[in-house]
Amino acid sequence: MKTLEKTEVGQFTTMKIGGIADEICFPSTTEELVELMNKLISTNEPWSLIGGGSNILVSSHDIPGTVICTTGLNWIEKIGPDLLTAGAGVRLPRLSAYASKLSLSGMEFYEGIPGTVGGAIVMNAGAHGSCTSQILETVTVLNIKKWKIEVLTPKDIVFGYRISTMNPQEQIVLSAKFRMVSDTEAAIRTRMKANNLARQNTQPIKDRSAGCTFKNPIELNMPAGKILDLIGVKNWKVGDAQVSSVHANFIINLGGANSQDVCELINKLQETAFEKYNVLLKPEIKPLGVFKESEAIIWTNADQTLNSSFIITK
Ligand SMILES: Cc1cc2nc3c(=O)[nH]c(=O)nc-3n(C[C@H](O)[C@H](O)[C@H](O)COP(=O)(O)OP(=O)(O)OC[C@H]3O[C@@H](n4cnc5c(N)ncnc54)[C@H](O)[C@@H]3O)c2cc1C
Repeated sequence: MKTLEKTEVGQFTTMKIGGIADEICFPSTTEELVELMNKLISTNEPWSLIGGGSNILVSSHDIPGTVICTTGLNWIEKIGPDLLTAGAGVRLPRLSAYASKLSLSGMEFYEGIPGTVGGAIVMNAGAHGSCTSQILETVTVLNIKKWKIEVLTPKDIVFGYRISTMNPQEQIVLSAKFRMVSDTEAAIRTRMKANNLARQNTQPIKDRSAGCTFKNPIELNMPAGKILDLIGVKNWKVGDAQVSSVHANFIINLGGANSQDVCELINKLQETAFEKYNVLLKPEIKPLGVFKESEAIIWTNADQTLNSSFIITK
């Protein structure tokens, strides 16, 4: 199995922020992943899991133990007229391109989402009015507590807006099956192109970011990006972390940002949104690694600590 020692985790994330892990492992088969987990659990070593690293803020402090990156689990197969199966590490745009070539529709919304199948299920990734839970047939997980491989259906999982009850510290997604519908390749391609174009025009897709910083608050009938734009936060900066000039709900790393800069900037945005709109913006970005209390408040104040590989220190 490909293993890197004393390596920066940040390079495996879209934000390019993250400290040094003792080890980063890249299993390329389910068997390798299960064997690795068996070793880590029996020796009581700390571990954390990333897919595409496109929805996480990794701490710039050292990351204890082993980081498992699933991008080697990258197989896709058609297993029925309208059924696809894919490994947890398959990138979403690759999956949607694969489906389109088979004239299978349903994944057009994955175009431009830089995550993997595993991350998409945990986050219930979605766009353009569709989300992962709508096309999910089954998900195969390694249940750490029961030490058992289980096949779950969407009924076994509670999915919400960019959230699910899947806990990466207890249930590791190994693969998933997706239910599709037939259409012409041309029609599917047209929708994918439109989705891509919409993104290019509204999001800083070439910058280093972790996608939307905040979830849209349900208590206000306004997206988080709109609230922040009205406040005028575009280009606000802490260190090399900056609110994008293209989309106010994206924080970009100008090159030298660390996790502390990002947390400070997020905290500033939360405080200002609370002051002006009486709304507590909840981060969509999940933490990974060790954060100081003063940094972690961006999640703890907003009740967003669940299901994360996340340690808080003084
Ligand atoms: C430019 C840009 C645009 C984006 N646009 C969108 C969008 O339109 N819609 C949207 O929903 N998101 C969007 N995102 C966010 C992100 O791509 C999605 O949330 C994606 O699903 C995250 O997948 P990932 O593999 O990168 O997960 P990661 O960021 O690696 O991990 C996210 C969480 O999932 C867990 N996890 C990852 N793999 C597994 C696994 N195999 N088993 C169990 N747990 C796992 C991790 O431990 C972590 O807690 C965007 C991000 C960027 C950078």
